[in-house]
Amino acid sequence: MIPQDYHIHTDYSCDCKATMIEMCQAAIELNIGEIGFCDHYDLMPEDPCFAFFRADAWWESLQHCREDFHGSLTIRAGIELGEPHLFQDETHEMLEKYPWDYSMGSMHWVGSKTVFDRSYFNAPADVAYRTYFLELAKMAANGDFDILAHMDVVKRYGFDTYGVYDPLQFEREIRDVLRICATRGIALEVNTAPLRRPVNQIAPSAVILSWFREEGGRWVTLGSDAHLTEHIGFGLDTAMSHLTSAGFEDLASFESRNPSPIPIPD
Ligand SMILES: [Zn+2]
Ligand SMILES: [Zn+2]
Repeated sequence: MIPQDYHIHTDYSCDCKATMIEMCQAAIELNIGEIGFCDHYDLMPEDPCFAFFRADAWWESLQHCREDFHGSLTIRAGIELGEPHLFQDETHEMLEKYPWDYSMGSMHWVGSKTVFDRSYFNAPADVAYRTYFLELAKMAANGDFDILAHMDVVKRYGFDTYGVYDPLQFEREIRDVLRICATRGIALEVNTAPLRRPVNQIAPSAVILSWFREEGGRWVTLGSDAHLTEHIGFGLDTAMSHLTSAGFEDLASFESRNPSPIPIPD
């Protein structure tokens, strides 16, 4: 049984065509009790999703889904904030204006380069990864968000260029990020999208989940990063077994930006 999928996109994201209703139906078919929509809110002018998100229409759709699927599905209101540390005023305004259940902090851009473009990986592997984690620490310290999304997503295309990366090589930088999240009460997402890519790993890598616990991390969430209905729930059983191995016994369920524990099923 999969208790939760907190990273689901809809056609309110520039890179997704599925409707909210279709995503809800897919979740119900899989018997997932709680989902969270989490569309891109991107403020980097160079980002393909820049100025795409329409919050009022999104909230109207969400209300419809909550009414239509009442009793069979709990639907959380999330938002995927791109680089929230760089756009604090806009982020604050968006978070204040609507009753979000959680905000996700995502880093897709490092300076003027996106880690979804291969040119980011013209640098030596050591530089590409270290720079990413150093900037991520700034986001964790200064961004207003509840869940850190796909912590080492840089490996998605990093893998295609350099092969497998070893988190141990960047342990100090990664632990800095995790410690900041633990101190601020930010949850760590286990994102399964890289399991659908050649890199074929969860994000973050399993060892990082143990480090998060060692650094005092309390809250974790599951996310398939679904952009298609068939992605919903994908790999979340794998994610849960990694979490259990790392010593986590429950997931964070968010309501009005407050986490409460729900047990990870056996
Ligand atoms: Zn993302
Ligand atoms: Zn996403």
